Amino acid sequence: NKAKFRNLHVLEFDTHMLDTLAQRMNILSELKTAISEQQGFYLALQPKVDMQNGQPVGFEALLRWQKPDGTLCPPCDFIPIAEASGMSLELSELVLHMTVQIIRQFQNAGYSLPVSFNLAYNDVSHPAIYQAIESFIKTGQVKPSMLEIEITESQATQDYQLLNPVLSKLIKLGVNVSIDDFGTGYSSLSQLTNLVATTIKVDRQFVHDLTSPNRENALHVIQMIARVAHRFNFDVIAEGIESKEQERLLLENDFKFAQGFLYAKPMPLADALDWLTDHYRGPK
Ligand code: C2E
Ligand code: MG
Ligand code: MG
Ligand code: MG
Repeated sequence: NKAKFRNLHVLEFDTHMLDTLAQRMNILSELKTAISEQQGFYLALQPKVDMQNGQPVGFEALLRWQKPDGTLCPPCDFIPIAEASGMSLELSELVLHMTVQIIRQFQNAGYSLPVSFNLAYNDVSHPAIYQAIESFIKTGQVKPSMLEIEITESQATQDYQLLNPVLSKLIKLGVNVSIDDFGTGYSSLSQLTNLVATTIKVDRQFVHDLTSPNRENALHVIQMIARVAHRFNFDVIAEGIESKEQERLLLENDFKFAQGFLYAKPMPLADALDWLTDHYRGPK
């Protein structure tokens, strides 16, 4: 009867919730250990290229976590957990440290290429991150022009009055600042004037839409972004390029730099060095 059915339903629902909760608790405890022991994390590196000649102009470092059981946990599954449980800053410090090591290893192999890394809003504005970056630079461990931070548009615009002074200080040091996933946030193009940044990184949704039924809209958006970015002196890069057709459309619309599976997937350092051996034609 009805009452019984409802009870059964509730029971199933609870079991499912408990499963998810247990899973989260499990990830949380594994993550805690991994962060405190600095174990299991590495940065996957994806090249940024000059579309006119296919030459690498830099890399983005994307965090990877290999869990104790060997499975790879994607950032969208553990970064929010780290943020919600107060472990984000420690993780960001680790990412910064690993990024500096990567830059040094590129340098040792003869490549002078900037590497960007992603920072959560709360961590960018935390004095510990600025101090760590400044110290890496002052002690000569990294050239500021080799270091770039990426912060998402939605985070950068939500509290830009708080964030802008830190970003200005970083830019003054010579560090580049990218506004990531640009176009997906709530800011309008007119708010570009409020952003303290060196680079606008157009979200891959617009690149994807360039070759979809929504192509007219996407084309308008990227044309506007290119024009406004030029007007306000931002560098522009597009992310998520998967086809030659998308590349052609971007080149036609004054884009020069891009990142995406068309060129390479994010890869471990050793593979990135192999990739450079095959693709880098500039002076070493
Ligand atoms: P994001 O910074 O916008 O990074 C780009 C994401 O798009 C990466 O996913 C990359 O693997 C993926 N991608 C690159 N090219 C293509 C393409 O051609 N097609 C498609 N479909 N995807 C492409 P990933 O590595 O899973 O990272 C997801 C997000 O996680 C990042 O988005 C970034 O917001 C965040 N993230 C990654 N590493 C860190 C980190 O160290 N700290 C923080 N706070 N966030 C991070
Ligand atoms: Mg990014
Ligand atoms: Mg992005
Ligand atoms: Mg994105």
